[in-house]
Amino acid sequence: MKKESNVDLICSVAELAGLFEKSTSVESFLQKVVSVVAWHMKAAVCSVYLLDDSSQELVLVANQGLNPELIGKLRLKLGEGITGKALQELRAIREASGPSSKFYKFIPGSFEDRYHAFLAVPILRGLTRVGVLVVQDAQKDYFDENDTKALRAIATQLGSTIENARLLMDLHRIQTSAQPDEIRLEPELGFIRGTAASQGIIFAKSTSLGHVQTDRLLAEELKALHQTEDDFRHALERTELQINDIQKEMETRLEDVASLIFSAHLLMLKDDAFSGDILRLIRKGLSPQTAIVQVVDRFIELFSRSANPMLREKVQDVKDLGHRLLHNLHPKTDSASDYKGQIVIAKELLPSDIFKLAAQKAQGLILIESGVSSHVTILARSLKIPLVITREERLLKLPEDTPVLLDAYQGHVIVNPAANVVCSYEAIEEANQKAHDLEAQVRPTTATDDGHTIRLMANVNLLSDLPVVLRMKAEGIGLYRSELPFIVRNDFPSEEEQHRIYRRILETMEGRPVTFRTLDIGGDKMLSYFPSVNEANPFLGLRAIRFSLRNKDIFCQQLRALLRAGHGYELKIMFPLVSSVDDFVDARHVVQECIRQLTQEGVPHNGQPLLGVMVELPSAVEVAGELAQEADFLSIGTNDLVQYILAVDRTNAHVSDMYLSQHPAVLRSLKRVADAVLARKKELSLCGDMARDPQMIPFLLGIGINILSLDASHIPSVQTIVSGLSMTQAKAQADAMLRLGRINEVKAYLASQHAS
Ligand code: PEP
Ligand code: MG
Repeated sequence: MKKESNVDLICSVAELAGLFEKSTSVESFLQKVVSVVAWHMKAAVCSVYLLDDSSQELVLVANQGLNPELIGKLRLKLGEGITGKALQELRAIREASGPSSKFYKFIPGSFEDRYHAFLAVPILRGLTRVGVLVVQDAQKDYFDENDTKALRAIATQLGSTIENARLLMDLHRIQTSAQPDEIRLEPELGFIRGTAASQGIIFAKSTSLGHVQTDRLLAEELKALHQTEDDFRHALERTELQINDIQKEMETRLEDVASLIFSAHLLMLKDDAFSGDILRLIRKGLSPQTAIVQVVDRFIELFSRSANPMLREKVQDVKDLGHRLLHNLHPKTDSASDYKGQIVIAKELLPSDIFKLAAQKAQGLILIESGVSSHVTILARSLKIPLVITREERLLKLPEDTPVLLDAYQGHVIVNPAANVVCSYEAIEEANQKAHDLEAQVRPTTATDDGHTIRLMANVNLLSDLPVVLRMKAEGIGLYRSELPFIVRNDFPSEEEQHRIYRRILETMEGRPVTFRTLDIGGDKMLSYFPSVNEANPFLGLRAIRFSLRNKDIFCQQLRALLRAGHGYELKIMFPLVSSVDDFVDARHVVQECIRQLTQEGVPHNGQPLLGVMVELPSAVEVAGELAQEADFLSIGTNDLVQYILAVDRTNAHVSDMYLSQHPAVLRSLKRVADAVLARKKELSLCGDMARDPQMIPFLLGIGINILSLDASHIPSVQTIVSGLSMTQAKAQADAMLRLGRINEVKAYLASQHAS
């Protein structure tokens, strides 16, 4: 049969990409790839081999023309056979007759000996080896140079799609069939550098989120036990009791956010389509563990394909439920279905997952970077769970229970650490603990060496932060991030619920100032239960005050709750991400409207709240003077301000080295805001993480910022730094830094100050 022109062949590759959509599984996609390629090349055989990262072996994953039994079983080492050689040497190999080639490897039972012509081209993505695409034919010397070019073109175009397929199959393999010894740790995966997002040092065994590997082993173990429908019913009851207990514990520990956080679990347990289906499968003769695995897998598949983000979020819940059921089927187990004492490694984490992990007593977290929401970090800190974010994907393949040392001060992960390494880290942790003992010496007020008062306030995310705020003798709350209860729950907290939370904060602080920031959602912090527009650049989209002004009913509910809670107290309300005086005036107008309503309804409230602006945008820096004229107070949110001045996404690990507080543009912007606000004699504070950065504190004081708001646990160390500084010194440092025009000059200056 006449072969098509190679041009046709290359052009028609687009249809291969289209196949992906029509396929129901990764395997079926690859199977369609081989038949389409075989058809175009008019070749009798076409195969795709993918490189298994852990064993460095090529695995036959799709084929047309050879013995189908070999799919998933035929493995070749790198360099083994013509196929292995092509990938090892990163070149196409064309042989007139495969069996006569010096590289040929005979595969018993493959029927390969019927074919002569052999053409293998490596599939690469960038420089990464992905696999090999092979065509064979019975006719000797059937393929020519043009065929080689064409197959190379196909392999190139399919590189990234096939790589994705490989990742998915890998995941599938881990979930279903792999034996533990197949998941081998590559030797160099010992020390991994990441970013410390929530501090602490933990040495513990690791597990992957969703207990994927444990469940596989559990299901295997359970096979021998021959369990019955009654055993499953018993497991169901135990699971429900456990979840109810965790839910209750959460409600007392974290009342502002815990509301029915495990409701999806409980509902599914009651759902006929879930537990009912498991029972029906058991009655049809399946073992309970197989029935659980089947139904759980079906739900995972259903949820992950759903267009509704709320349902997609439930994948983790189903996995968790499946794990608990399997665990509870096992007669020996206690409540060890939790993550108690473990370091959890996860690819994706929602704010609500952090709560669930805290409730299930996870000790530490490693998050493989995938666009981490800044709230995940904030919550981990509030819940005191050490967290390191890294880009090292291979951590996800660590065998269950691998000992891991998590140094979430430095951002290091050490896999299988030696005993002496663990000892030295324990010593560091002890020293850190001693530093925490500083807390006993913390004073209620703070001043520089030469007597200038600096007020240290606390950033608060959850009600459970309040005891620490009191212990650290914070002079007030400089930033309450009101969105956390919104983000973690499954629906909007009512005006009444919000009122209760805000009132609790004011009562606990007993008259000390409290600044409530209105809802700061959007950007990387979406509400899964509220339909959002799909934004190409969410950080530049409908965020924070923009969202509130666009959704006035939600905004009014929050303002009403705040005004009511503030009755009898000084009340400070601050708007996030204000980009113009007009934004502020619009927001103030809504506050006035709410005051008018409450007055009309005769509801007790605070009719004269102080209204403030967060300076987080370059545009706000430009009009800081006018904003200061209108607002009662201003607070600089440097976490966002740095990101917007430098155009560096604060959640993107790829550019984290460019996120630099010491950038001259940032320093000069801070100075301009301070000058503009202080000239108008308005209160100015700073509430980003910069407020606790030892290197930056002298600069901030030097430009006149005398209110710092920070995570309360850092108050003792910041107090020590401030007390050791004189204002004259701080001003000199600020002046010197403002004269520098290059990042490196500022860095060198700061290093010299540190050394002296
Ligand atoms: C900031 O942007 O500096 C800030 C304090 O707000 P958040 O970190 O909540 O965005
Ligand atoms: Mg911010």
